[in-house]
Amino acid sequence: MTLKQYQKKRDFKKSPEPKGRVLKKKKSPNFVVQKHWARNLHYDFRLELDGVLKSWAVPKGPPQKVGDKRLAIQVEDHPLEYASFHGTIPEGQYGAGRVAIWDKGQVKFKRITKDLIEFDLFGKKLKGKFALLHPAKFEKKNWLFIKGT
Ligand code: MN
Repeated sequence: MTLKQYQKKRDFKKSPEPKGRVLKKKKSPNFVVQKHWARNLHYDFRLELDGVLKSWAVPKGPPQKVGDKRLAIQVEDHPLEYASFHGTIPEGQYGAGRVAIWDKGQVKFKRITKDLIEFDLFGKKLKGKFALLHPAKFEKKNWLFIKGT
């Protein structure tokens, strides 16, 4: 796991975002959803896995009703510290705009393969079974974020 891509995109002298480092896996992993008023409003869904936050940008927000399917575009891994980040990324910087924490909590992984991640979320807004699925016919970065039963 590496944060090179994350760090290369950002100027930490200008952005309040954490520079971060890869940390050891914790026993109870967390997730976070950040609402991000960037050029296009979206929600960033992040799962703690292998010492980093695996991250997806979800244009329409996470699925909240059983059967909902949302496009989730995988983006670069973020440092674990990013889970508590909120604030404003300055104009001219990567991802410029306000970031607010929309939901957070623990995640319990049930299955992890290269194109399917099944998990339970224990947030305030997101609770219960979810999955991230990468259909073979989709472009590499495009996943589906699904609310399970
Ligand atoms: Mn974002």
